[in-house]
Amino acid sequence: MSTPISDTFEAQLRSMRSDLLARLQTQRGGTRSRADAAADKRERADDDGLDRDESFDLGAVLGERETAELGAIDAALRRVADGSYGLCVTCGTQIPAARLHAQPTAERCVGCQARVE
Ligand SMILES: [Zn+2]
Repeated sequence: MSTPISDTFEAQLRSMRSDLLARLQTQRGGTRSRADAAADKRERADDDGLDRDESFDLGAVLGERETAELGAIDAALRRVADGSYGLCVTCGTQIPAARLHAQPTAERCVGCQARVE
């Protein structure tokens, strides 16, 4: 089943997905550079160890957030494919288009999302 609303958002989700993949690819290169720079710094100044730890933490957090975002996009695309896109996964009501425009990966209506969070 294909509805006009899922046609609209499928294109948007696909472009979000390719943007995100490109960003993750750039970031992986960036993470390696930061690690190299941190290792460099550690060899040069042992008393500067706090900076190095912060760099590593930041890299891990960014990676997790974007991996979660990719998962949400893939889940939304699966809902487009099976015809359930735009319906709240909890109560089954139609999610308002305005909410989907703001967040195409939204899988719950505002009321159900508030209960989950
Ligand atoms: Zn709901």
